[in-house]
Amino acid sequence: MNTRELEKSFAAALAGCAGGAEVSASELVAVILREAALHRVSDVHLTPEETFFRMQWRIDGVLHLVAGFASELGPRLVARLKVISGLLTYRTDLPQEGRVASEFSAAEVRVSTFPTLFGEKVAIRLFGENSERQLLSQLGLSEAAEQSLRQQLQSTSGVLLVTGPSSSGKTTTAYALVREILRQSGGARCVMTIEDPVESAIPGAAQSQVRPAAGFDLATGLKSMMRQDPDVILVGEIRDPATAEATFQAALTGHLVIATFHAGSAVEALARLLEMGLEPFLICSALQMVTSQRLLRRRCGACWPASTNSAEITSSSDKRSNGSTPVGQGCTCGGTGYAGRIVLCESLAASLPGMTEAILRRADVRALAEVASASGALGLHELARLALRDGVTSREELLRVFGGLSADIP
Ligand SMILES: [Zn+2]
Repeated sequence: MNTRELEKSFAAALAGCAGGAEVSASELVAVILREAALHRVSDVHLTPEETFFRMQWRIDGVLHLVAGFASELGPRLVARLKVISGLLTYRTDLPQEGRVASEFSAAEVRVSTFPTLFGEKVAIRLFGENSERQLLSQLGLSEAAEQSLRQQLQSTSGVLLVTGPSSSGKTTTAYALVREILRQSGGARCVMTIEDPVESAIPGAAQSQVRPAAGFDLATGLKSMMRQDPDVILVGEIRDPATAEATFQAALTGHLVIATFHAGSAVEALARLLEMGLEPFLICSALQMVTSQRLLRRRCGACWPASTNSAEITSSSDKRSNGSTPVGQGCTCGGTGYAGRIVLCESLAASLPGMTEAILRRADVRALAEVASASGALGLHELARLALRDGVTSREELLRVFGGLSADIP
């Protein structure tokens, strides 16, 4: 991972401060927030170690070590962040959460502190990046995947299941689908959501945060919501059989239900629903489509040499891809070699030949996968191979995201 450029660029920004090496905590916080936003950072981690205070940035899903500060600076830095986020500076023994006041940051920035062995760790979440990924067209989907999702949005009933592992961007996709519906219908469709938690506000949608302690959970909330006359419902996310059942029931009675669900692939999602005890006929009658997605970093067009050509990659399966070390001297990608992300998204329509029969006989993952591939549906691994061939991402990135499953990626 090339973090040298980020390190250098941050050090240069710091050196540009009035105080130079003797920079104050408030100046340092200002520089961190400014530089992080500039480099499309989603999270800043400030971690006290035994001998120094570490700062890492998460960019496009990957953490980079950017700076190590002197240990003495750590508590002052944390205190300053607490002050501008309205947290209690004298409590260092409890986790705290807050948001940076608007006079210190125009964009939304949330701060969370957590007591650790060597002091408080701080995680700063910046929401700048997500604001650019609000619409379906901004997610980084392939044209085919975007098209097939758009088609689903015309439905007036049925379940559209958005699945993937943690941090695969499921919620971002589900939110983009809801925004698209609101945009297309111009308010003619009533959109309600029931979430745990509500991740951000969608103008035009009535969003609800469940309160399980008060008996208002996803399953009971969904049942009550039926009396609110919604056209479109977002469920985030299905975690238990009762919610799965309520989601699919809601879709049978003239509602388009978009739901997120944790699963490694589209067929795994189907198998998991069956394992949860959902009746096969309920799945078959309500399900429109199930997708599964992965977020991959997009290769930086400016600094990845075009000579890393696709033909060579696909023809030499035993040879490691050339250009595996990106050159990024002074590039806007901060030398990481990546800029932005793409979403790989496989989708299975419930109407695929043989799919209903397979679900009705409670087929396992393997059998479901056979049905899917026999019908020509492209799985995540095929999509990954295509993305590599087209040069939009790298082999290293595929290995990072797919891990051990990537044995069959050339
Ligand atoms: Zn670059």
